Amino acid sequence: MKTRALIFLGAPGAGKGTQAREVAKEYHIPQISTGDILRDSVKKGTPLGLAAKVKMEAGQLVPDEVVCGIVEERISEPDCCQGFILDGFPRTLPQAEFVDRMLEAKGRGSPRVINIQVDQDVLMKRLTGRRTCAVCGEIYNVYFGPPKQEGVCDKDGGKLLQRADDNEDTIRQRLVAYENQTRPLIDYYRRKNLLHDVDGNRDPEPIAQELCQHLKAA
Ligand code: AMP
Repeated sequence: MKTRALIFLGAPGAGKGTQAREVAKEYHIPQISTGDILRDSVKKGTPLGLAAKVKMEAGQLVPDEVVCGIVEERISEPDCCQGFILDGFPRTLPQAEFVDRMLEAKGRGSPRVINIQVDQDVLMKRLTGRRTCAVCGEIYNVYFGPPKQEGVCDKDGGKLLQRADDNEDTIRQRLVAYENQTRPLIDYYRRKNLLHDVDGNRDPEPIAQELCQHLKAA
């Protein structure tokens, strides 16, 4: 794969974070998750975090100018010079247009966009069952990939936590935000011939293998 910007698109629970992690390891490029950056700001209680918290807990999107600012700053760091993965960004058309302008200004080629497709019933179980290690960030699922001991990370014994926005009401709102604001990006990138669809209704390993094969050939 030529080093460049990769974008992971998909509904909440599609497995963007899990797959982006694997591809980032394989290609030694950073995974930039706007959700993770925002959650970190919320935890630290920064002004950005305080502003974002209300939106995140309501399952709504944080304003475009806020997330665009975060991404612009992050990709200016030296570890991004060989390429990077945008995980959960862009999520609106103005964000996608911002990415286009930013890549052009930096003299990079078009992004490569991976669209992870997952059925609605699977998404719901993925989100309500998701647990994340407080120490290493490893992701488990109580239905599909439980830890050996309930509530404890297999790798480092860290406590497994449920995200504040992984409750049924907020999940419903997040799925509505996806349908209305993010789904149109599929057409946006398909028209530009940049989109690669992946069937995400499977275990993480075969998906990661298929993705890495696709990117190698690209
Ligand atoms: P995620 O971890 O990607 O599911 O994101 C969690 C929450 O962070 C979302 O429900 C939004 O409230 C916010 N968020 C993350 N990325 C973006 C984005 N690109 N644009 C707007 N809001 C975002």
